[in-house]
Amino acid sequence: MSDVLDLTRDLIARPSVTPRDAGCQALLAGRLEAAGFECEHLRLGEVDNLWATHGRDDGPTLVLLGHTDVVPPGPASAWRSDPFEPTIRDGVLYGRGAADMKGSVAAFVVAAERFVAAHPGHRGRLALLLTSDEEGDAIDGVRRVADLFRERGERIDWCITGEPSSKARLGDLLRVGRRGSLSARLSVHGVQGHVAYPDKARNPIHLALAALDALASRRWDDGYESFPPTSLQISNIHAGTGANNVIPGELEVMFNLRYNPHWNADRLVDECEAVLAAQGLDFDIHWHRSGEPFFTPEGTLRAAAREVLAGFAGAAPEESTGGGTSDARFIAPLGAQCIEVGPVNASIHQVDENVAVADLEALPDLYQALVARLLA
Ligand SMILES: [Zn+2]
Repeated sequence: MSDVLDLTRDLIARPSVTPRDAGCQALLAGRLEAAGFECEHLRLGEVDNLWATHGRDDGPTLVLLGHTDVVPPGPASAWRSDPFEPTIRDGVLYGRGAADMKGSVAAFVVAAERFVAAHPGHRGRLALLLTSDEEGDAIDGVRRVADLFRERGERIDWCITGEPSSKARLGDLLRVGRRGSLSARLSVHGVQGHVAYPDKARNPIHLALAALDALASRRWDDGYESFPPTSLQISNIHAGTGANNVIPGELEVMFNLRYNPHWNADRLVDECEAVLAAQGLDFDIHWHRSGEPFFTPEGTLRAAAREVLAGFAGAAPEESTGGGTSDARFIAPLGAQCIEVGPVNASIHQVDENVAVADLEALPDLYQALVARLLA
């Protein structure tokens, strides 16, 4: 049984559903301390975060970024084997977190141990940053750690996130950015009344139609570098009492914007509110800013990753900015170049989440090769 497989199984057996860490970070810190890393445990609110460093800060700092928490497994009976009992069938390891992302975290630690053993006097600093609040609200996790780093003046040059990014084969996709995400909950106020007496009511559905159409049909931009165009999607819309002879007094709408670096959240808020105001609506709106977009242009990190991944996948990786958001959104604003490289993501957040044992066993070599390119 290989080291990385053993460690991944030990992590899966700890049921660390967000925001619980269930002892994962203590296990990992023990390994890293034995390898010469300095470990700082940052408990923020309900959330455990681990900052482990090796080397000196007179050179570049490379951070391996990951999370020890997992999404809930749902009913265990839907799984072929218990989600928190790591099980291998036909060369595939099953368990909650196998792909997202306990396998990557175990591979980070094994790669870090091997790298510092081979290069005890390496240049710069190698660091691991692990949180137990990535899959949840992500408030007391890397977001707050990044605030703390900003206060301390902690410098980060490069950041490799281990999120499962590969499509069909390990290393076939290199994530070089992510879109921003901004959500809104809109209430349009009208006056309730009888449908037979519309002059005595104000129908918020009718009043809002033009504004919603303007928001939904707007072409926000034509894309940015490898980013797709910014998109606004209405996800929920609700009004009415259930009776077909009552004009409702309120309309509730939820929508979300996924946006590229042409925009930031403040400017999108202004634009949307201007559209609503231009239609003369009486409204309240509550915004949730999930994270600004980030983009890592061509440079040292991208070039190193492209070469290493090509060696593993047998062909140059696709370089993509697709997918949802990740914790890299909090590290990029510190001035770091960020990329994401991890195992195949086909089963993440699903029942019977899994990772191929062969991919898992190759991951430490992949991360170690990347670290060596940057710090050896
Ligand atoms: Zn994840």
